Amino acid sequence: MKKVKKILIGTHNQGKYKEISQLLPKEIKKVSPINLKIKSPKETGKSFLANSKLKANYFFRKSNIPSLSDDSGLCIECLNGKPGIYSARWANKYGSFQKAMVKILSLVEKKNRNKSRKNFRAKFVCCLTFKISSKKIISVTGEARGKISSKIIGKKGFGYDPIFMPNKFKVTYAQMNKKKKIMIDHRYLAFKKLKKKLIACKFFIF
Ligand code: IMP
Repeated sequence: MKKVKKILIGTHNQGKYKEISQLLPKEIKKVSPINLKIKSPKETGKSFLANSKLKANYFFRKSNIPSLSDDSGLCIECLNGKPGIYSARWANKYGSFQKAMVKILSLVEKKNRNKSRKNFRAKFVCCLTFKISSKKIISVTGEARGKISSKIIGKKGFGYDPIFMPNKFKVTYAQMNKKKKIMIDHRYLAFKKLKKKLIACKFFIF
């Protein structure tokens, strides 16, 4: 068994940083790229997987610390999977997450107007890549399926939490207790797979 004692959580997004930290064991030292003054790389990949790999490789190269990166986003079926890998960029494009959510709700409403079969299906996707050493890299994907709410509801969480209702729940991510949300969301589902893969290749972090 090879023990990992320190992990750089490769994100500048505070919401993600907190969630990933909470998923990792307490004993592991968590390092933020902000404290090491490492900027974010350009996300030039065409998929969640490509971007998560690009980020983990970049942060490992810059820090020489085992680096865990996530690329995630909201994919809406009636919008052909948008905003998808552009989820963070839509918030910039429209001015804020609040404005991007207003835009999304209006696009979804327009797509469904006058349709007898309405489609509010959506999913949150998370690709996690853990670059453990120069030779070892592991990637996994988690998907949480659900639907887009008709309004912006709830004050907890971050990003698009107030417009996503996961299947089997009648509330949005932003209405959920934070501890509950992180134990069911796309990041957690990816994390569970990562844990299994790490154990299989004898890396011990848990
Ligand atoms: P990126 O992975 O840095 O490209 O950013 C993904 C974007 O998707 C973030 O800016 C988030 O706002 C959004 N996102 C990812 N995961 C979540 C989540 O769990 N809740 C709400 N928004 C999320």
